[in-house]
Amino acid sequence: MKTVLIRDTDSEFIIGKIVCVGRNYLEHINELGNQLPSEPVIFMKPASSVIKNGETVFIPSFSNDCHYEAELAVLIGTDCKNISEADALSHIAGYGVAIDMTLRDVQDGQKKKGLPWDVAKGFDTACPLSDFVSVASVQNPQELTVQFFLNGEERQNCSTGYMIFSVAKLISYISTIFTLEEGDIILTGTPSGVGKVVPGDQMEAIVTGVGAIKAVVSN
Ligand code: MG
Repeated sequence: MKTVLIRDTDSEFIIGKIVCVGRNYLEHINELGNQLPSEPVIFMKPASSVIKNGETVFIPSFSNDCHYEAELAVLIGTDCKNISEADALSHIAGYGVAIDMTLRDVQDGQKKKGLPWDVAKGFDTACPLSDFVSVASVQNPQELTVQFFLNGEERQNCSTGYMIFSVAKLISYISTIFTLEEGDIILTGTPSGVGKVVPGDQMEAIVTGVGAIKAVVSN
């Protein structure tokens, strides 16, 4: 079983479900030519896809177009269902950084056929995930900066203030579908600037004031 730590504490959480949000930043929707959603686009990654800082993303042999997507990750600390937006943040244990690795060619094929995205999003090593910081160390989750560096060159840089659906709104909405449980993680979507990685690439995603996750790419 995969676990996550809250830095500088004894708190360790067994990772439950990883609920991911697609299309949550307007400029990213535009760069992929997608429609603006009227409610959050939700998909999941299995906990088995998680790797830790410094580990390797292995691109599956059936893809030739693996993309990075840097995202703010939210760790749920207490169970909730049908929670209001006003109460949503009280269920967070901490914040972290994730890279939502995506097999864009596989995903595009699945989209065209109306098929689910599990293969494109859930393969082994598809979720590099940092340690978390405690919820108390983040004043406002909509005032953070998400950055991504490919081989040291900045590719993504955007405030979480540009999310279409805020962290509180996402937790509230997701909790109407799935009971959110201790150890569940929400990936809150990526800003614009996504792109392809190839074997040998070095990736680093940073959320200022939260942390960073580095991973290398291999085939
Ligand atoms: Mg994503």
